Amino acid sequence: MNFNSPVQLAQQLLELIDHSDHIVAFTGAGISTESGIPDFRSPNGLWAKMDPIMFDDFVADEDTRLEDWRRRFIQNEEFLAAEANEGHKALVRLEKRGKLDCTITQNIDGLHQRSGQNPDKVIEIHGNGTVASCLDCGAEMTLAEAKRHIEETGHSPLCPHCGGLVKTSIINFGQAMPEEKMMRAMRLSGDCDLFIVLGSSLVVYPAAGLPQIAKQHGAKLVIINRDSTPLDELADMTSQQEIGSIMKLIA
Ligand SMILES: [Zn+2]
Repeated sequence: MNFNSPVQLAQQLLELIDHSDHIVAFTGAGISTESGIPDFRSPNGLWAKMDPIMFDDFVADEDTRLEDWRRRFIQNEEFLAAEANEGHKALVRLEKRGKLDCTITQNIDGLHQRSGQNPDKVIEIHGNGTVASCLDCGAEMTLAEAKRHIEETGHSPLCPHCGGLVKTSIINFGQAMPEEKMMRAMRLSGDCDLFIVLGSSLVVYPAAGLPQIAKQHGAKLVIINRDSTPLDELADMTSQQEIGSIMKLIA
């Protein structure tokens, strides 16, 4: 374990950043919990006592769709109430300096975009819970529109363009990972010279393979996460301090 103070850790990280031109950030639930968003998968998380909704069940069953929407509306309220924190803002600064190639995130709260990062540089491998889209043609629908539709009709919304099922743009359990996004994430991970993990326990694959790809291609690896991770031994720097306490010192 690394017992250095946040100031020492920030100095160490700044040195790595100064020697890098192509940084990839990889963020997980830990960065969002510092904005007050609960980790939905933690033992005390919102969904801990509820079975996750499988993608096939969403497609097959109207009651399941309505239950999924009910949960997603609650979740979205929490996302909208949260503010981007020092961790998110530090990545915006790195982007402005031309250092950051992209942020790959497991989070679905949209906080990286709201913090001011270029949306084109945010790769949401688990989707986004603040918008909805048609499963067939991809046309977007706001959650407010979906909610109004359900309140007025009692039915889950259908796409106004093609009649397909509309769902929040989250990757549900049992739903295929977005292949194009994963390919891009893998490519940028292989091309980066510094890979910074912020708040992910690196246990969910294929996402957890990305730091390994970076390392195999010669990048330095930094892991800042509350708990130790299976990849700590590979890392050039690790810390279990609060993300914001270090990242606020990254100018
Ligand atoms: Zn459609």
